[in-house]
Amino acid sequence: MRHLQIIDQKVVDDLYAKDGLIYSKYGSYERKVHGCKVFKVPLNAEFTCPVWDGRLSNGGCTFCPALARQFTYDSFRQVIDKGFRAQIAHQIEHYKSMGAGEKALVYVAFGTNTYAPLPTLRKIFDDCVAHEDVIGFTVGTRPDCLPDEVFDLLEEYVQSGYDVWVEAGQQTVHYHTLEAINRCHGFAELIRVVDECHSRKIKALSFIILGLPGETPTEMMETARIISALGVDAIKLYPLIIMKDTRLAQQYMKGEYRPLGFMEYVNLVADFLEHLSPYVLIQRLSKDCGLETKLAPTWDTYRNIVTPRVERELKNRGSRQGSKYKITLDMDELVPLKQTDVSKTYARLKKQRKTSK
Ligand code: SF4
Repeated sequence: MRHLQIIDQKVVDDLYAKDGLIYSKYGSYERKVHGCKVFKVPLNAEFTCPVWDGRLSNGGCTFCPALARQFTYDSFRQVIDKGFRAQIAHQIEHYKSMGAGEKALVYVAFGTNTYAPLPTLRKIFDDCVAHEDVIGFTVGTRPDCLPDEVFDLLEEYVQSGYDVWVEAGQQTVHYHTLEAINRCHGFAELIRVVDECHSRKIKALSFIILGLPGETPTEMMETARIISALGVDAIKLYPLIIMKDTRLAQQYMKGEYRPLGFMEYVNLVADFLEHLSPYVLIQRLSKDCGLETKLAPTWDTYRNIVTPRVERELKNRGSRQGSKYKITLDMDELVPLKQTDVSKTYARLKKQRKTSK
């Protein structure tokens, strides 16, 4: 078994053995590693996305609202308009004033945040680390938008001593679902991203959504097992939320999609955690989403409601993260689920990996 993760597995062992956690909480891990409370600061660098701007598609993922391009409140709009460094300073001050912690990991969060020329990215990342309270940054992007030169750039910040994370939206490992939600990428891209991240000491996080159209609970558990084998350092787990003004909203209105119920989601999350490697850090178990933008589900998806209920479910079952996780495959055994051009990419990656062993 290859241990590919960048996170320190001994620290995770301590979270279970000494702190008595039943799943590996990202915040607890960071506190142990850095010796203080680390908070994430979301930033809007006003990126677009190749499935919005016509390069791959122009409709976006079926669940992504067009307004996500500038997904932000009016008051924050005024902050954004003052410039990126001013936005960072404002956000850090705001979070610190609420007692969020001492050190910040800034999060370039909205749109596809590596989808720009290299000089633009360098300027943004330089701005990210300019503030004295910043220990590093994390970049939200798509797994197909990370060319080698972007990895080279990110590695420079690692070599300067910063914590660098890549947060790759994957949502599922299943090709039929990726097609149904118009992602316009496959799973081979994530395999490459995690490989490249780990060879450069960059931590890799993946977003996963439960309740995607046409996906069975068995397939969701397969996603848990496969991304565990891949060795991602952390995940963010969400229910599929139907936002207003999306194609998913149209499907929902026509009765073509049914959102998960509250307990259905809670049970699926508990199942997912059981099938996941105990070493994958958990950053989120739900998504904070207000009624002004949400059409369904009607239940409250806020993390402070959902997370304690999932913890209670795990306790009731007498289980914990990884309790059903079996090491059934090595990363090299991962194969694309559909024969497409992606399989050629995967074959090349596999050959490269073999020659570098
Ligand atoms: S890749 Fe991300 S930003 Fe782009 S449309 Fe999909 S969810 Fe939205």
